[in-house]
Amino acid sequence: MEIIHLGGEHTVTGSCHLLQTNGLNILVDCGMSQGHDRVASMDAWPVKPSDIHYLFLTHAHLDHIGRVPELIEKGFNGEIIVTHGTKALLDPMLRDAMTFSDMDETRARGILSAIDDFSWGFEYNQSFFLKKGIGFKLGRAGHILGSCWVRFDIPNGSSVVFSGDLGAKDTPILPDPDIPDSCDLLVLESTYGDRLHEDRKQRIHRLGKLLTRALSDKGKIFIPAFALGRTQELIYEMDRLFSVPENRQMFPELNGKSPVPVFVDSPLGLEITKIYAGLSDYWDEETRNIHHKGDHPLDFDHLYGVKGYRDHLRLLEIPGPAIIIAGSGMCTGGRIVDHLKAGIDDPRNDILFVGYQSAGTPGRAMIRNSRKADGWVELDGQRFPIRAEVHTLTGYSAHADQKELLEWTKAIQPERIKLVHGEPEVQEILRNMLR
Ligand SMILES: [Zn+2]
Repeated sequence: MEIIHLGGEHTVTGSCHLLQTNGLNILVDCGMSQGHDRVASMDAWPVKPSDIHYLFLTHAHLDHIGRVPELIEKGFNGEIIVTHGTKALLDPMLRDAMTFSDMDETRARGILSAIDDFSWGFEYNQSFFLKKGIGFKLGRAGHILGSCWVRFDIPNGSSVVFSGDLGAKDTPILPDPDIPDSCDLLVLESTYGDRLHEDRKQRIHRLGKLLTRALSDKGKIFIPAFALGRTQELIYEMDRLFSVPENRQMFPELNGKSPVPVFVDSPLGLEITKIYAGLSDYWDEETRNIHHKGDHPLDFDHLYGVKGYRDHLRLLEIPGPAIIIAGSGMCTGGRIVDHLKAGIDDPRNDILFVGYQSAGTPGRAMIRNSRKADGWVELDGQRFPIRAEVHTLTGYSAHADQKELLEWTKAIQPERIKLVHGEPEVQEILRNMLR
């Protein structure tokens, strides 16, 4: 059994790992890189896409699936193995990515239909077999809807687990990660291997406090968020802030007679929220209980979806107070960039980061430069002064923190561990902790 990392070994984007065993080429994820991160050119891979037998996708974030269209166009015609949740998300995520890259519509449709033909949805925690007697199992990773870790059992008795992106405990909407049986090799993500997140209760309160303060001068709050995962978590937690009596009392300014409107300015975010809302079998108990009591966990009165481009343009013009959730999560493109260009120089406005910002992205630059007097950021090739206040809520990460990575690993007791999906300095810190 040999593993070759084709992307995402020492970076947090571009995940792609090749497992070679018993004459089979098995690819785990085929993701796009962002910011400064680089991935190997497909033409320089040790195997041709047409020689890959299986493609496992751990979840539908683009840094894990973004190069699947290229893989298909370069000749891949094996099987794509995913959970049912991921299967539902592949089409909207890749359709959006291909539109974003200006791909011709007929070509994009052809790729999507090939992906639909090649891909199979599987249940969590059941054993299945590939050719040559190789067993596999997909377990809950608690990261986003449909996310999984993958375990392979090779006929010679050895075993390997790919963690994929591992979620934090108490991630809204989703159950906690499952723990695989012990294995010979654990290929472990390490995004937040150097830090600890705030707990969820503090996080909702911090969000409530921050929204209250930021809205006191009637400005807008811009929240750059991934369409998949983070947007749904934010809607869920805002629903908690606006619906739970204890929270309503604690944050009266947010719950007055005319509550502040919350806009999801993202057609993709809205489409995915619909998929999340429809797959209640995959929710955790708490979310199902909220639903049973008659409150839809992903909706509230003053939540508005902005689909059309014309409505997006109108939203740029409206005065505050308003909360605007839009992609992309790292401000590398998408509607959030228009909002920032229109409002970043207004000190009444606030920018709230709730996700990881890769090196080289405008998001990372805004966090760094907002601490300087005269800080600026480049958006669409133009410099903008940062006068809006910039905040980060790290507790929102969809990734496990150091303590959770250590606990999960300890519960598995693997013989060996290979760290991937993290920056080198972070991996060094986690490596020492694991030792
Ligand atoms: Zn992810």
